[in-house]
Amino acid sequence: NLTGRLSTIMKTLRGEARLTESNISDAMREVRMALLEADVALPVVKTFIAQVKERAMGQEVIGSLSPGQAVIGVVHQELTRLMGEANVDLNFASQPPAIVLMAGLQGAGKTTTVGKLAKYVREQHKKKVLVVSCDVYRPAAIEQLRLLAEQVGVEWFPSSDQDEPVAIARAALEHARRHLFDVLLVDTAGRLAIDEAMMQEIKALHAALNPIETLFVVDAMQGQDAVNTARAFSEALPLTGVVLTKLDGDARGGAALSVRQITGKPIKFVGVAEKVGGLEPFHPERMASRVLGMGDVLSLIEEAQKSVDQEEAKKMMAKVKSGKGFDLEDFKMQIVQMRKMGGISGLMDKLPAQLTGQLGGQLPAGADEKAINRIEGIINSMTRQERSKPELIKASRKRRIAAGAGVSVQEVNRLLNQFETTQKMMKQFSKGGIGKLMRGMKG
Ligand code: GDP
Ligand code: MG
Repeated sequence: NLTGRLSTIMKTLRGEARLTESNISDAMREVRMALLEADVALPVVKTFIAQVKERAMGQEVIGSLSPGQAVIGVVHQELTRLMGEANVDLNFASQPPAIVLMAGLQGAGKTTTVGKLAKYVREQHKKKVLVVSCDVYRPAAIEQLRLLAEQVGVEWFPSSDQDEPVAIARAALEHARRHLFDVLLVDTAGRLAIDEAMMQEIKALHAALNPIETLFVVDAMQGQDAVNTARAFSEALPLTGVVLTKLDGDARGGAALSVRQITGKPIKFVGVAEKVGGLEPFHPERMASRVLGMGDVLSLIEEAQKSVDQEEAKKMMAKVKSGKGFDLEDFKMQIVQMRKMGGISGLMDKLPAQLTGQLGGQLPAGADEKAINRIEGIINSMTRQERSKPELIKASRKRRIAAGAGVSVQEVNRLLNQFETTQKMMKQFSKGGIGKLMRGMKG
């Protein structure tokens, strides 16, 4: 079982300070098993392991983490990265109506998802939505969509199983144009297995509609088979995104990784219930944890990282308390720390609210590795004296520092302002807020 296997990794690796070729291999063997158990397709697992191995090599083990934990940490990070972007919304940037075409096997959840998306688009985007069913094969498929439309309060374009799917689509588009709908959601038929007729039909629908979104709907329970389905659909159609349904079931969600790898398209939403409210934006990190199925270890790693933060924070506080002040060297340390913690969002979780409020204002939520690198680069271009006495940094020094870091003088100014704000905060905390700050650190 998994827990047993994990403790094996820990035992094998405990006490080793660095990740070596062989201990990575050991840990990777265990990760491989975990991914296969989660139903990630074998070729995808192989590619992933190769990539992650390369990344893990040469990484040092920070703080109180054991090498085994560090490996899992890297795996989790990489898995999160491979899952793709978080929260990619629907694209409506077309001449209205923005057309969304659903594709996928029968039973994948297309019709249900049209209902969910209709609700979402109407409520969140305040758009006027029309839905239409081009499923003339499955008994009652059209009626199913009519009921959903009624339930979520959007308009339904009448179609009949006596009509041609492409003719239905054209008529619905015409209707949507004439009545100024913002969005047209087009439900389609699916078969139990991929077949040529179905592929031709969905291609014809795509050609007739030229949709801005072509969403591949796939059942998370499909496991290994998801790979073949995803490949067939992504070869037939220029997909723009994926909806992974039935994540409320037992499926560990390995299909997410497979489908993402095969299509290269963002997973935009996940289905988490049968009801029309059961649609959520995709969270790569959560999905990575689920696929890895190592909840215990992951929270352990998180704890260890928190304690690294706390140690750093204690050191910093001691400095402030001793009256030595908080200088740019400390600021840089914060930033390096931030990077170790997986970027700004990672750090934000671990800092007290007062501080994150401030930093949040300074560093935009999307501020990433690149921004952190630039800040670090600027501080690296300063002399030791400048770092401890930033007030020395006047115009000519600013120019020199900017040139050294390959940035503009404005950027140097911005950094100095950020630093000043942080320094002020530190002073406030040192006046009597240390207890509060440390309590915040734990929370
Ligand atoms: P379609 O053939 O692709 O149109 O699939 P349907 O939308 O008809 O869905 C097939 C079945 O899966 C129905 O019973 C739905 O209620 C169910 N379903 C769809 N999405 C979800 C989901 O996210 N969670 C759960 N639990 N059931 C779902
Ligand atoms: Mg259907």
